[in-house]
Amino acid sequence: MTGISGTNTDTFRTRFSGDVLTRTDTGYDSARSLWNGAFDRHPRVIARCGSAADVSSAVAFGRNEGLEVSVRGGGHSLTGASVADGGLMIDLSRMNGVSVDPAARRAVCGGGATLADLDAATQEHGLAVTGGIISHTGVGGLTLGGGMGWLTRRHGLTIDNLVSAQVVLADGRIVRASRKERPDLFWALRGGGGNFGVVIAFEFQLHPVGPEVYMGLLFWGLDQSTEVLRLARDVIEPLPRDANALIAAGLSAPPAPFVPERYHHVPGCAMIIAGFSTEQEHERLLRPVRGALPPLFEFSTPLPYTQLQRELDASATWGIFSYSKALYLDELTDGAIGVIAEYLPRKTSPMSFSPIFPLGGAYRDTGEADTAFGGSRRARFALSIDAIAPEPGPVETDRRWVRSFWEALQPYTVSAGSYVNFMAEYEEGRVRAAYGPGKYDRLARIKDVYDPTNLFHLNANIAPAAGASTVPPPR
Ligand SMILES: Cc1cc2nc3c(=O)[nH]c(=O)nc-3n(C[C@H](O)[C@H](O)[C@H](O)COP(=O)(O)OP(=O)(O)OC[C@H]3O[C@@H](n4cnc5c(N)ncnc54)[C@H](O)[C@@H]3O)c2cc1C
Repeated sequence: MTGISGTNTDTFRTRFSGDVLTRTDTGYDSARSLWNGAFDRHPRVIARCGSAADVSSAVAFGRNEGLEVSVRGGGHSLTGASVADGGLMIDLSRMNGVSVDPAARRAVCGGGATLADLDAATQEHGLAVTGGIISHTGVGGLTLGGGMGWLTRRHGLTIDNLVSAQVVLADGRIVRASRKERPDLFWALRGGGGNFGVVIAFEFQLHPVGPEVYMGLLFWGLDQSTEVLRLARDVIEPLPRDANALIAAGLSAPPAPFVPERYHHVPGCAMIIAGFSTEQEHERLLRPVRGALPPLFEFSTPLPYTQLQRELDASATWGIFSYSKALYLDELTDGAIGVIAEYLPRKTSPMSFSPIFPLGGAYRDTGEADTAFGGSRRARFALSIDAIAPEPGPVETDRRWVRSFWEALQPYTVSAGSYVNFMAEYEEGRVRAAYGPGKYDRLARIKDVYDPTNLFHLNANIAPAAGASTVPPPR
Protein backbone atom coordinates (compact mmCIF):
# COMPACT_ATOMS: atom_id res chain seq x y z
CA MET A 1 0.00 0.00 0.00
CA THR A 2 1.31 3.47 -0.84
CA GLY A 3 0.40 7.10 -0.40
CA ILE A 4 0.78 7.66 3.35
CA SER A 5 2.23 11.11 3.85
CA GLY A 6 4.59 12.28 6.55
CA THR A 7 1.89 14.77 7.54
CA ASN A 8 -0.58 11.98 8.30
CA THR A 9 2.03 10.23 10.41
CA ASP A 10 2.79 13.50 12.22
CA THR A 11 -0.91 14.02 12.95
CA PHE A 12 -1.15 10.45 14.23
CA ARG A 13 1.88 11.10 16.47
CA THR A 14 0.21 14.07 18.15
CA ARG A 15 -2.69 12.01 19.45
CA PHE A 16 -0.55 9.07 20.58
CA SER A 17 0.85 8.65 24.09
CA GLY A 18 3.35 5.91 23.14
CA ASP A 19 6.05 6.07 20.44
CA VAL A 20 5.49 6.33 16.72
CA LEU A 21 8.64 5.08 15.01
CA THR A 22 9.63 5.36 11.36
CA ARG A 23 12.87 4.32 9.61
CA THR A 24 14.89 7.31 10.79
CA ASP A 25 13.91 7.04 14.46
CA THR A 26 16.18 5.63 17.14
CA GLY A 27 14.82 2.30 18.32
CA TYR A 28 13.13 1.49 14.99
CA ASP A 29 15.44 -1.45 14.21
CA SER A 30 15.13 -3.10 17.60
CA ALA A 31 11.36 -2.57 17.59
CA ARG A 32 10.90 -4.30 14.22
CA SER A 33 13.08 -7.30 15.13
CA LEU A 34 11.43 -10.61 15.94
CA TRP A 35 12.63 -13.71 17.76
CA ASN A 36 13.17 -15.43 14.40
CA GLY A 37 16.13 -13.62 12.81
CA ALA A 38 14.99 -14.81 9.37
CA PHE A 39 12.52 -11.90 9.20
CA ASP A 40 14.22 -8.62 8.33
CA ARG A 41 11.16 -6.57 7.46
CA HIS A 42 10.69 -2.82 7.43
CA PRO A 43 7.26 -1.59 8.46
CA ARG A 44 6.34 1.93 7.33
CA VAL A 45 5.25 2.85 10.85
CA ILE A 46 5.66 1.18 14.23
CA ALA A 47 3.03 2.25 16.78
CA ARG A 48 4.47 1.31 20.15
CA CYS A 49 1.30 1.68 22.15
CA GLY A 50 1.12 2.86 25.74
CA SER A 51 -2.63 2.64 26.33
CA ALA A 52 -5.92 1.22 25.11
CA ALA A 53 -6.65 4.56 23.42
CA ASP A 54 -3.32 4.31 21.57
CA VAL A 55 -4.25 0.86 20.23
CA SER A 56 -7.64 2.16 19.15
CA SER A 57 -6.15 5.13 17.32
CA ALA A 58 -3.45 2.91 15.74
CA VAL A 59 -6.16 0.60 14.39
CA ALA A 60 -8.01 3.63 12.97
CA PHE A 61 -4.79 4.99 11.46
CA GLY A 62 -3.97 1.66 9.77
CA ARG A 63 -7.49 1.30 8.45
CA ASN A 64 -7.79 4.90 7.18
CA GLU A 65 -4.36 4.84 5.52
CA GLY A 66 -4.96 1.45 3.93
CA LEU A 67 -1.88 -0.04 5.58
CA GLU A 68 -1.25 -3.72 6.19
CA VAL A 69 -1.82 -4.04 9.95
CA SER A 70 0.30 -6.45 11.97
CA VAL A 71 0.09 -6.99 15.72
CA ARG A 72 3.13 -7.74 17.85
CA GLY A 73 2.79 -9.23 21.32
CA GLY A 74 5.99 -11.04 22.32
CA GLY A 75 7.49 -11.23 18.81
CA HIS A 76 7.74 -15.04 18.69
CA SER A 77 5.69 -15.54 15.54
CA LEU A 78 7.19 -18.45 13.61
CA THR A 79 5.75 -17.04 10.36
CA GLY A 80 6.94 -13.47 10.95
CA ALA A 81 3.29 -12.37 10.77
CA SER A 82 3.76 -9.69 13.41
CA VAL A 83 5.83 -7.48 11.09
CA ALA A 84 5.08 -6.54 7.46
CA ASP A 85 7.18 -4.63 4.93
CA GLY A 86 5.60 -1.22 4.38
CA GLY A 87 2.84 -1.87 6.93
CA LEU A 88 1.76 -0.61 10.33
CA MET A 89 3.11 -2.67 13.21
CA ILE A 90 0.97 -2.31 16.33
CA ASP A 91 3.58 -3.02 18.96
CA LEU A 92 2.16 -3.98 22.37
CA SER A 93 5.47 -4.67 24.09
CA ARG A 94 5.03 -1.73 26.49
CA MET A 95 1.58 -2.93 27.52
CA ASN A 96 3.05 -5.68 29.66
CA GLY A 97 1.73 -4.88 33.12
CA VAL A 98 0.28 -7.67 35.26
CA SER A 99 -2.03 -7.27 38.24
CA VAL A 100 -2.93 -10.17 40.50
CA ASP A 101 -5.87 -10.63 42.83
CA PRO A 102 -4.58 -13.45 45.08
CA ALA A 103 -7.87 -13.89 46.93
CA ALA A 104 -9.84 -14.44 43.72
CA ARG A 105 -6.88 -16.23 42.13
CA ARG A 106 -7.11 -14.04 39.07
CA ALA A 107 -4.52 -12.15 37.01
CA VAL A 108 -5.01 -9.49 34.36
CA CYS A 109 -2.09 -8.92 32.03
CA GLY A 110 -1.48 -6.54 29.17
CA GLY A 111 -1.60 -7.83 25.58
CA GLY A 112 2.17 -7.36 25.21
CA ALA A 113 3.26 -9.21 28.37
CA THR A 114 5.71 -12.08 28.08
CA LEU A 115 5.31 -15.34 29.97
CA ALA A 116 8.19 -14.17 32.19
CA ASP A 117 6.18 -11.04 33.12
CA LEU A 118 3.09 -13.11 33.92
CA ASP A 119 4.97 -15.80 35.86
CA ALA A 120 6.96 -13.29 37.92
CA ALA A 121 3.81 -11.48 39.07
CA THR A 122 1.67 -14.55 39.75
CA GLN A 123 4.45 -16.46 41.53
CA GLU A 124 4.74 -13.67 44.08
CA HIS A 125 1.51 -15.20 45.39
CA GLY A 126 2.43 -18.85 44.71
CA LEU A 127 0.03 -18.91 41.74
CA ALA A 128 0.38 -19.63 38.02
CA VAL A 129 -1.48 -20.36 34.80
CA THR A 130 -0.38 -22.65 31.97
CA GLY A 131 2.21 -20.94 29.74
CA GLY A 132 4.81 -22.16 27.25
CA ILE A 133 8.30 -23.56 27.81
CA ILE A 134 10.32 -20.49 26.72
CA SER A 135 9.90 -17.49 29.01
CA HIS A 136 10.23 -14.69 26.45
CA THR A 137 7.26 -15.94 24.40
CA GLY A 138 4.35 -13.48 24.32
CA VAL A 139 1.21 -14.21 26.32
CA GLY A 140 -0.75 -12.66 23.40
CA GLY A 141 0.04 -14.96 20.50
CA LEU A 142 0.48 -18.01 22.72
CA THR A 143 -2.92 -17.61 24.36
CA LEU A 144 -4.88 -16.75 21.22
CA GLY A 145 -3.66 -19.94 19.53
CA GLY A 146 -4.15 -22.20 22.59
CA GLY A 147 -1.05 -22.29 24.82
CA MET A 148 0.59 -25.53 25.92
CA GLY A 149 3.35 -25.95 28.47
CA TRP A 150 4.46 -27.61 31.70
CA LEU A 151 1.07 -27.15 33.37
CA THR A 152 -1.08 -28.52 30.51
CA ARG A 153 -1.72 -31.89 32.18
CA ARG A 154 -2.60 -30.16 35.45
CA HIS A 155 -4.63 -27.15 34.26
CA GLY A 156 -5.29 -27.58 30.54
CA LEU A 157 -4.32 -25.14 27.83
CA THR A 158 -3.84 -21.44 28.56
CA ILE A 159 -7.20 -20.72 26.87
CA ASP A 160 -8.93 -23.19 29.18
CA ASN A 161 -8.07 -20.72 31.96
CA LEU A 162 -9.04 -17.52 30.16
CA VAL A 163 -11.82 -15.68 32.01
CA SER A 164 -12.18 -12.58 29.85
CA ALA A 165 -10.40 -10.42 27.31
CA GLN A 166 -10.49 -6.74 26.49
CA VAL A 167 -10.31 -6.23 22.76
CA VAL A 168 -9.87 -3.36 20.33
CA LEU A 169 -12.02 -4.26 17.34
CA ALA A 170 -11.34 -3.43 13.69
CA ASP A 171 -13.69 -0.42 13.96
CA GLY A 172 -11.65 0.93 16.89
CA ARG A 173 -14.17 0.17 19.66
CA ILE A 174 -12.88 -1.30 22.93
CA VAL A 175 -15.04 -4.20 24.12
CA ARG A 176 -14.94 -6.99 26.68
CA ALA A 177 -15.50 -10.65 25.88
CA SER A 178 -16.29 -13.36 28.41
CA ARG A 179 -18.69 -16.28 28.75
CA LYS A 180 -21.49 -13.74 29.37
CA GLU A 181 -20.37 -10.78 27.24
CA ARG A 182 -20.07 -11.42 23.50
CA PRO A 183 -19.77 -15.18 24.03
CA ASP A 184 -19.23 -15.70 20.28
CA LEU A 185 -16.16 -13.45 20.33
CA PHE A 186 -14.94 -15.06 23.56
CA TRP A 187 -15.26 -18.51 21.99
CA ALA A 188 -13.34 -17.38 18.89
CA LEU A 189 -10.53 -15.76 20.89
CA ARG A 190 -9.84 -19.10 22.58
CA GLY A 191 -7.91 -20.68 19.72
CA GLY A 192 -8.84 -18.53 16.71
CA GLY A 193 -5.62 -16.48 16.88
CA GLY A 194 -5.27 -12.75 16.20
CA ASN A 195 -8.15 -12.68 13.72
CA PHE A 196 -10.74 -10.84 15.79
CA GLY A 197 -9.03 -7.75 17.15
CA VAL A 198 -6.15 -6.57 19.28
CA VAL A 199 -6.38 -8.03 22.78
CA ILE A 200 -5.15 -5.39 25.18
CA ALA A 201 -5.84 -7.36 28.39
CA PHE A 202 -6.20 -11.05 29.25
CA GLU A 203 -7.83 -12.16 32.51
CA PHE A 204 -6.78 -15.62 33.73
CA GLN A 205 -7.89 -18.05 36.41
CA LEU A 206 -4.81 -18.94 38.47
CA HIS A 207 -3.86 -22.06 40.45
CA PRO A 208 -1.50 -22.71 43.35
CA VAL A 209 1.86 -23.80 41.88
CA GLY A 210 5.22 -24.15 43.65
CA PRO A 211 6.99 -21.86 44.28
CA GLU A 212 9.37 -24.87 44.51
CA VAL A 213 8.87 -27.52 41.82
CA TYR A 214 11.06 -30.37 40.51
CA MET A 215 12.79 -31.11 37.23
CA GLY A 216 14.56 -34.26 36.08
CA LEU A 217 16.37 -34.49 32.74
CA LEU A 218 17.49 -37.88 31.45
CA PHE A 219 19.61 -38.08 28.30
CA TRP A 220 20.33 -41.01 25.99
CA GLY A 221 22.32 -41.33 22.76
CA LEU A 222 20.61 -41.06 19.38
CA ASP A 223 21.24 -44.78 18.79
CA GLN A 224 18.73 -45.44 21.60
CA SER A 225 15.96 -43.19 20.22
CA THR A 226 13.60 -46.09 19.50
CA GLU A 227 13.88 -47.45 23.05
CA VAL A 228 13.58 -43.94 24.56
CA LEU A 229 10.42 -43.15 22.61
CA ARG A 230 8.84 -46.49 23.49
CA LEU A 231 9.69 -45.88 27.12
CA ALA A 232 8.27 -42.35 26.92
CA ARG A 233 5.03 -43.77 25.54
CA ASP A 234 4.77 -46.13 28.49
CA VAL A 235 5.66 -43.67 31.26
CA ILE A 236 3.90 -40.51 30.07
CA GLU A 237 0.32 -41.75 29.72
CA PRO A 238 -0.02 -42.86 33.38
CA LEU A 239 1.76 -39.76 34.78
CA PRO A 240 -0.30 -38.08 37.50
CA ARG A 241 -1.68 -34.64 36.63
CA ASP A 242 0.85 -33.19 39.05
CA ALA A 243 3.63 -33.99 36.59
CA ASN A 244 4.39 -33.47 32.94
CA ALA A 245 7.10 -34.45 30.49
CA LEU A 246 8.72 -33.10 27.37
CA ILE A 247 10.56 -35.30 24.92
CA ALA A 248 13.41 -33.38 23.32
CA ALA A 249 14.17 -35.73 20.43
CA GLY A 250 17.42 -34.96 18.66
CA LEU A 251 18.52 -32.43 21.30
CA SER A 252 22.27 -31.87 21.43
CA ALA A 253 23.47 -32.01 25.04
CA PRO A 254 24.22 -28.45 26.18
CA PRO A 255 27.66 -27.55 27.57
CA ALA A 256 26.00 -27.05 30.97
CA PRO A 257 27.68 -27.75 34.32
CA PHE A 258 25.44 -30.78 34.94
CA VAL A 259 26.47 -32.43 31.63
CA PRO A 260 29.70 -34.52 31.72
CA GLU A 261 32.16 -32.84 29.35
CA ARG A 262 32.43 -35.86 27.03
CA TYR A 263 28.73 -35.45 26.15
CA HIS A 264 28.81 -31.71 25.41
CA HIS A 265 27.13 -31.09 22.01
CA VAL A 266 26.46 -34.82 21.50
CA PRO A 267 23.07 -35.30 19.79
CA GLY A 268 20.67 -37.54 21.64
CA CYS A 269 17.19 -37.90 23.01
CA ALA A 270 16.14 -36.32 26.30
CA MET A 271 13.13 -36.81 28.51
CA ILE A 272 12.45 -33.93 30.88
CA ILE A 273 10.00 -34.61 33.68
CA ALA A 274 8.57 -31.73 35.71
CA GLY A 275 6.91 -32.44 39.06
CA PHE A 276 4.54 -30.14 40.93
CA SER A 277 4.04 -32.34 43.99
CA THR A 278 6.73 -33.45 46.46
CA GLU A 279 10.40 -34.38 45.99
CA GLN A 280 9.60 -37.99 46.98
CA GLU A 281 6.83 -38.17 44.40
CA HIS A 282 9.14 -36.75 41.74
CA GLU A 283 11.80 -39.34 42.55
CA ARG A 284 9.12 -42.06 42.43
CA LEU A 285 8.39 -40.98 38.82
CA LEU A 286 12.06 -40.90 37.75
CA ARG A 287 13.06 -44.26 39.27
CA PRO A 288 11.32 -46.57 36.77
CA VAL A 289 12.55 -44.47 33.83
CA ARG A 290 16.23 -44.77 34.71
CA GLY A 291 15.64 -48.36 35.82
CA ALA A 292 14.15 -49.36 32.47
CA LEU A 293 16.80 -47.67 30.35
CA PRO A 294 19.87 -46.28 32.15
CA PRO A 295 20.63 -42.84 30.64
CA LEU A 296 24.07 -41.55 29.60
CA PHE A 297 23.58 -38.87 32.25
CA GLU A 298 20.79 -37.34 34.26
CA PHE A 299 20.15 -34.27 36.31
CA SER A 300 17.44 -33.81 38.87
CA THR A 301 16.80 -30.80 41.06
CA PRO A 302 14.24 -28.79 42.98
CA LEU A 303 13.93 -25.31 41.49
CA PRO A 304 11.61 -22.30 41.62
CA TYR A 305 8.73 -22.54 39.13
CA THR A 306 9.93 -19.30 37.46
CA GLN A 307 13.29 -21.00 36.82
CA LEU A 308 11.65 -24.08 35.34
CA GLN A 309 9.90 -21.67 32.96
CA ARG A 310 13.31 -20.23 31.94
CA GLU A 311 15.26 -23.50 31.96
CA LEU A 312 15.13 -24.01 28.18
CA ASP A 313 15.58 -20.35 27.17
CA ALA A 314 19.19 -20.93 26.09
CA SER A 315 17.97 -23.32 23.38
CA ALA A 316 15.91 -20.54 21.78
CA THR A 317 17.79 -17.26 22.04
CA TRP A 318 16.42 -14.07 20.48
CA GLY A 319 17.48 -13.46 16.86
CA ILE A 320 18.15 -17.10 16.05
CA PHE A 321 17.04 -18.50 12.64
CA SER A 322 14.28 -21.08 12.56
CA TYR A 323 11.84 -23.01 10.39
CA SER A 324 9.40 -25.62 11.66
CA LYS A 325 6.44 -27.83 10.91
CA ALA A 326 4.23 -29.62 13.40
CA LEU A 327 1.50 -32.20 13.73
CA TYR A 328 -0.57 -34.03 16.30
CA LEU A 329 -0.15 -37.71 17.07
CA ASP A 330 -2.96 -39.79 18.50
CA GLU A 331 -0.44 -42.36 19.71
CA LEU A 332 3.31 -42.84 19.62
CA THR A 333 2.91 -46.00 17.54
CA ASP A 334 5.86 -48.18 16.63
CA GLY A 335 5.47 -46.87 13.07
CA ALA A 336 5.73 -43.22 14.17
CA ILE A 337 8.65 -44.05 16.47
CA GLY A 338 10.41 -45.76 13.56
CA VAL A 339 10.10 -42.59 11.43
CA ILE A 340 11.31 -40.31 14.24
CA ALA A 341 14.32 -42.54 14.99
CA GLU A 342 15.16 -42.70 11.28
CA TYR A 343 15.02 -38.92 10.71
CA LEU A 344 16.69 -37.58 13.88
CA PRO A 345 20.27 -38.44 12.78
CA ARG A 346 19.70 -36.68 9.43
CA LYS A 347 19.56 -33.13 10.83
CA THR A 348 22.62 -31.02 10.07
CA SER A 349 22.39 -28.12 12.53
CA PRO A 350 23.29 -29.18 16.09
CA MET A 351 20.43 -27.00 17.41
CA SER A 352 17.70 -28.56 15.25
CA PHE A 353 15.49 -30.97 17.16
CA SER A 354 11.95 -32.23 17.62
CA PRO A 355 10.16 -31.30 20.86
CA ILE A 356 7.21 -33.57 21.63
CA PHE A 357 4.56 -32.18 24.01
CA PRO A 358 2.31 -34.73 25.80
CA LEU A 359 -1.35 -33.65 25.89
CA GLY A 360 -3.06 -35.78 28.53
CA GLY A 361 -4.71 -35.00 31.86
CA ALA A 362 -6.64 -31.74 32.12
CA TYR A 363 -6.12 -31.08 28.40
CA ARG A 364 -8.94 -33.57 27.83
CA ASP A 365 -11.32 -31.98 30.38
CA THR A 366 -12.49 -29.35 27.89
CA GLY A 367 -14.90 -30.41 25.18
CA GLU A 368 -14.01 -30.25 21.48
CA ALA A 369 -16.58 -27.53 20.75
CA ASP A 370 -16.11 -25.51 23.97
CA THR A 371 -13.31 -23.42 22.47
CA ALA A 372 -12.07 -22.63 18.97
CA PHE A 373 -8.82 -24.49 19.61
CA GLY A 374 -7.33 -25.95 16.43
CA GLY A 375 -6.59 -29.46 17.58
CA SER A 376 -8.42 -32.51 18.81
CA ARG A 377 -8.70 -33.02 22.55
CA ARG A 378 -8.13 -36.71 21.79
CA ALA A 379 -4.59 -36.10 20.48
CA ARG A 380 -1.94 -37.45 22.82
CA PHE A 381 1.09 -35.55 21.50
CA ALA A 382 1.90 -32.33 19.67
CA LEU A 383 5.14 -32.85 17.81
CA SER A 384 7.14 -30.03 16.26
CA ILE A 385 10.12 -30.44 13.96
CA ASP A 386 12.38 -27.41 14.35
CA ALA A 387 15.30 -26.37 12.16
CA ILE A 388 17.28 -23.93 14.32
CA ALA A 389 20.70 -22.33 13.86
CA PRO A 390 22.50 -19.09 14.68
CA GLU A 391 22.85 -18.35 10.94
CA PRO A 392 20.54 -18.86 7.93
CA GLY A 393 22.60 -21.46 5.95
CA PRO A 394 22.05 -24.52 8.18
CA VAL A 395 18.35 -23.66 8.52
CA GLU A 396 18.03 -23.67 4.72
CA THR A 397 19.63 -27.13 4.68
CA ASP A 398 17.49 -28.43 7.54
CA ARG A 399 14.33 -26.96 5.97
CA ARG A 400 14.39 -29.99 3.62
CA TRP A 401 14.91 -32.27 6.63
CA VAL A 402 11.89 -30.72 8.39
CA ARG A 403 9.68 -31.17 5.33
CA SER A 404 10.63 -34.75 4.53
CA PHE A 405 10.45 -35.75 8.24
CA TRP A 406 6.97 -34.17 8.46
CA GLU A 407 5.82 -35.88 5.23
CA ALA A 408 7.03 -39.24 6.51
CA LEU A 409 4.94 -38.79 9.69
CA GLN A 410 1.72 -37.96 7.84
CA PRO A 411 0.37 -41.55 7.92
CA TYR A 412 0.50 -41.38 11.73
CA THR A 413 -1.24 -38.03 12.33
CA VAL A 414 -4.71 -37.66 13.83
CA SER A 415 -5.86 -35.56 10.85
CA ALA A 416 -4.31 -33.12 8.42
CA GLY A 417 -4.45 -30.65 11.32
CA SER A 418 -1.65 -29.01 13.23
CA TYR A 419 -1.35 -26.52 16.10
CA VAL A 420 -1.61 -23.04 14.50
CA ASN A 421 0.99 -21.64 16.91
CA PHE A 422 3.58 -24.13 15.66
CA MET A 423 3.07 -23.31 11.95
CA ALA A 424 5.90 -21.55 10.11
CA GLU A 425 3.72 -21.09 7.02
CA TYR A 426 0.00 -20.33 6.86
CA GLU A 427 -1.26 -22.05 3.74
CA GLU A 428 -5.05 -21.51 3.64
CA GLY A 429 -5.68 -25.25 3.37
CA ARG A 430 -3.62 -26.00 6.46
CA VAL A 431 -5.34 -23.34 8.56
CA ARG A 432 -8.73 -24.77 7.60
CA ALA A 433 -7.45 -28.28 8.34
CA ALA A 434 -6.16 -27.15 11.76
CA TYR A 435 -9.68 -26.18 12.81
CA GLY A 436 -11.65 -28.67 10.76
CA PRO A 437 -14.54 -27.49 8.56
CA GLY A 438 -17.12 -27.09 11.38
CA LYS A 439 -14.99 -24.84 13.58
CA TYR A 440 -13.49 -22.98 10.64
CA ASP A 441 -16.92 -22.07 9.28
CA ARG A 442 -18.10 -20.91 12.71
CA LEU A 443 -14.93 -18.81 13.07
CA ALA A 444 -15.50 -17.35 9.59
CA ARG A 445 -19.03 -16.25 10.56
CA ILE A 446 -17.74 -14.59 13.75
CA LYS A 447 -14.92 -12.99 11.77
CA ASP A 448 -17.51 -11.46 9.45
CA VAL A 449 -19.25 -9.87 12.44
CA TYR A 450 -16.14 -8.42 14.09
CA ASP A 451 -13.72 -7.86 11.20
CA PRO A 452 -15.69 -8.01 7.93
CA THR A 453 -12.96 -6.32 5.86
CA ASN A 454 -10.27 -8.69 7.22
CA LEU A 455 -8.16 -5.82 8.57
CA PHE A 456 -6.47 -8.37 10.85
CA HIS A 457 -5.29 -10.81 8.21
CA LEU A 458 -1.59 -11.16 9.08
CA ASN A 459 -2.14 -14.31 11.13
CA ALA A 460 -3.44 -17.86 10.62
CA ASN A 461 -6.15 -16.18 8.64
CA ILE A 462 -9.83 -16.96 8.82
CA ALA A 463 -11.49 -15.34 5.82
CA PRO A 464 -14.78 -13.62 6.79
CA ALA A 465 -17.77 -15.66 5.64
CA ALA A 466 -19.10 -13.30 2.97
CA GLY A 467 -22.38 -11.73 3.94
CA ALA A 468 -22.70 -13.67 7.19
CA SER A 469 -23.16 -10.50 9.23
CA THR A 470 -26.46 -8.76 8.61
CA VAL A 471 -26.26 -6.78 11.83
CA PRO A 472 -23.42 -4.61 13.17
CA PRO A 473 -21.31 -6.16 15.95
CA PRO A 474 -23.06 -6.06 19.33
CA ARG A 475 -22.06 -3.05 21.40
C1 LIG B 1 11.01 -20.35 20.90
C2 LIG B 1 9.54 -20.61 20.88
C3 LIG B 1 8.97 -21.40 21.84
C4 LIG B 1 7.61 -21.65 21.84
N1 LIG B 1 7.08 -22.46 22.81
C5 LIG B 1 5.75 -22.65 22.85
C6 LIG B 1 5.17 -23.43 23.89
O1 LIG B 1 5.85 -23.96 24.76
N2 LIG B 1 3.83 -23.59 23.89
C7 LIG B 1 3.03 -23.02 22.95
O2 LIG B 1 1.82 -23.19 23.02
N3 LIG B 1 3.56 -22.27 21.95
C8 LIG B 1 4.89 -22.08 21.87
N4 LIG B 1 5.43 -21.35 20.86
C9 LIG B 1 4.57 -20.83 19.80
C10 LIG B 1 4.00 -19.48 20.21
O3 LIG B 1 2.85 -19.72 20.99
C11 LIG B 1 3.62 -18.66 18.97
O4 LIG B 1 4.77 -18.41 18.22
C12 LIG B 1 2.91 -17.36 19.36
O5 LIG B 1 2.33 -16.79 18.21
C13 LIG B 1 3.87 -16.37 19.96
O6 LIG B 1 3.18 -15.27 20.43
P1 LIG B 1 3.90 -13.86 20.54
O7 LIG B 1 2.93 -12.90 21.09
O8 LIG B 1 5.21 -14.00 21.20
O9 LIG B 1 4.22 -13.59 19.01
P2 LIG B 1 4.02 -12.32 18.06
O10 LIG B 1 4.97 -12.51 16.95
O11 LIG B 1 4.09 -11.05 18.81
O12 LIG B 1 2.54 -12.51 17.57
C14 LIG B 1 2.17 -13.60 16.78
C15 LIG B 1 0.76 -13.37 16.29
O13 LIG B 1 -0.12 -13.42 17.39
C16 LIG B 1 -1.11 -12.42 17.30
N5 LIG B 1 -1.03 -11.60 18.52
C17 LIG B 1 -0.04 -11.55 19.42
N6 LIG B 1 -0.42 -10.79 20.47
C18 LIG B 1 -1.66 -10.36 20.20
C19 LIG B 1 -2.61 -9.57 20.91
N7 LIG B 1 -2.34 -9.09 22.12
N8 LIG B 1 -3.81 -9.33 20.32
C20 LIG B 1 -4.12 -9.84 19.11
N9 LIG B 1 -3.26 -10.60 18.40
C21 LIG B 1 -2.05 -10.86 18.96
C22 LIG B 1 -0.88 -11.70 16.01
O14 LIG B 1 -1.72 -12.25 15.03
C23 LIG B 1 0.55 -12.01 15.67
O15 LIG B 1 0.78 -12.10 14.28
C24 LIG B 1 6.79 -21.08 20.84
C25 LIG B 1 7.37 -20.28 19.85
C26 LIG B 1 8.72 -20.03 19.87
C27 LIG B 1 9.33 -19.19 18.80
